[in-house]
Amino acid sequence: MEQWQKSVSGSLTSLEELTERFGIDPEPLRPVLERYRMRITPYYLSLIQEVGDPIWRQCVPDPHELEEGIPFDSFDEAELSPVRGVVHRYPNRVVLLISSTCPTFCRFCMRKSWIKSQRGFNINESIDRAIRYIEKNTAVRDVILSGGDPLSLSDGSLEDILIRLRRIPHIEIIRIGSRAPVTLPDRITLKLCRMLKGYHPLYVNTHFNHPLEITPQSSKACIRLVEAGIPVGNQTVLLKGVNDDPAVMKELMQKLLTIRVKPYYIHHLDLVKGTSHFRTSIEQGKTIMASLRGQISGMATPYYVIDLPKGKVPILPDDIKKDGKVLSLRNYLGKMIEYPDGAGE
Ligand SMILES: *Cc1c(COP(=O)(O)O)cnc(C)c1O
Ligand code: SF4
Repeated sequence: MEQWQKSVSGSLTSLEELTERFGIDPEPLRPVLERYRMRITPYYLSLIQEVGDPIWRQCVPDPHELEEGIPFDSFDEAELSPVRGVVHRYPNRVVLLISSTCPTFCRFCMRKSWIKSQRGFNINESIDRAIRYIEKNTAVRDVILSGGDPLSLSDGSLEDILIRLRRIPHIEIIRIGSRAPVTLPDRITLKLCRMLKGYHPLYVNTHFNHPLEITPQSSKACIRLVEAGIPVGNQTVLLKGVNDDPAVMKELMQKLLTIRVKPYYIHHLDLVKGTSHFRTSIEQGKTIMASLRGQISGMATPYYVIDLPKGKVPILPDDIKKDGKVLSLRNYLGKMIEYPDGAGE
């Protein structure tokens, strides 16, 4: 067993351990755990500073998960799934789900229901059909490995999949979406990086949501990937009580660049059963984006996107600030178009 596998085995999974460590009342959480699993790696657990803080909220079950506010998921990926394990929404790129487990289960996960229903999912049983589907679809040039967490697989199993994908001539880009750098930085071993290096062009998108997650360990994990020639991007989810605050988001985006991670997306939370307590308004997201604009480098500024049935749609702030005054973006742009050389100013 590798060290990271031992760490996962030592994760917190029972209510008894949680109660013992934090002295909370376990009763309200019992029915939540019956519905959705809990797993928190020792490392991620160590980042909790107090009950209810942004790390806690992301990984510890909450009675609100049982609320019926959102009866079903906003869009059903199953409808976009031509064969098991493949999500195909855009003509030229597919998502290949290769694991139904994660080092730490996030309470706001968009695939919460999928992960729950696919317990024991074994990629070996469906990979042949999935690969054949990708082989047949010559328009596909970009494969995004996802799950669950693709880095829950052993190096060997992951490499088998990479070998098979690299044999397909029309596949140009391979991306791996993984939260392991954030919740299980041990997973990013030199051995893993050496292996991944053999399958370029390969990209990793990870998932930091709060500046407290940027630690010496997670920084080292990201820098290791980058040193293996892998560009690392970040996809944040806008979460109430975690990062729905301009100052927190600004700090997060700026710190990401210092560990050589490029902010890529801020996702508006999908409508997913069991996550209503994390919802923010789109207005709040726009306010955050407006506060980032101009205050931080364009390099650190991601797209704020919402997932609609047709695909991701970027959301832009309505207003911009100029000389301390708030201007309506529509009016401002209107003027620029009317007076292209600034004569109207
Ligand atoms: C987000 C997503 C992608 C990748 O989109 P990019 O904008 O290229 O990152 C691909 N397929 C599905 C189903 C997605 O949701
Ligand atoms: S790591 Fe990703 S897939 Fe796994 S629970 Fe968290 S958000 Fe969901």
